[in-house]
Amino acid sequence: MKIKIVFASGNSGKIREASEIFDGFEIVPISLFPEWKAPDENGTTFLQNAVIKAEAAAKAAPGSIVLADDSGLVVPALNGAPGIFSARFSAEATNESNRKKLLDELSGVADRRAYFLCTAVMIFPDRTVISAEGRCYGQIIESCRGNNGFGYDPLFVPEGYAETLAELSEDEKNLISHRGKAFRKLLTFKGSSI
Ligand code: IMP
Repeated sequence: MKIKIVFASGNSGKIREASEIFDGFEIVPISLFPEWKAPDENGTTFLQNAVIKAEAAAKAAPGSIVLADDSGLVVPALNGAPGIFSARFSAEATNESNRKKLLDELSGVADRRAYFLCTAVMIFPDRTVISAEGRCYGQIIESCRGNNGFGYDPLFVPEGYAETLAELSEDEKNLISHRGKAFRKLLTFKGSSI
């Protein structure tokens, strides 16, 4: 029987990626737990928001191993925006409107470097908490390309690639993505004792 990991996300793109990366485990969406109520992500860092989600999931699914991530796109030329506000960058807060706002804000900007960042947190039934960060560096292009992935993927070309993340297969994306890196670090986490 596979070990279950309850994932505190309602984002189907993230759930698919997590199931792929945590190969050999069963990823269970937190939405299956009636006690779950998405918390206010009112932290000021990716780590704070990931912990807020993981703690809320641990409450809704007591006795489970829970996983949460907070992730987003960081554009240095936009002073780090959209950052922790990546999901709600535009007023409409859809993937499409967020991408449009990003393109508008980068219009005429020469420096189009950007990176995705993911902070992942896992809480175990004995209250052990572990966390890990992953980054994926690249560039924002001028218009969308590709149909895979989600969010800003069609606008993001990772370093060393000609394709956008939305033109890569799921396996290819997971190999280099911020989420792939952070989740794999959790899988190989070695605790230390003091
Ligand atoms: P969260 O669910 O609060 O962590 O917000 C994540 C948001 O960041 C998503 O809604 C996307 O807009 C963006 N994002 C995070 N990871 C990715 C990715 O792998 N590809 C594209 N966009 C991403």
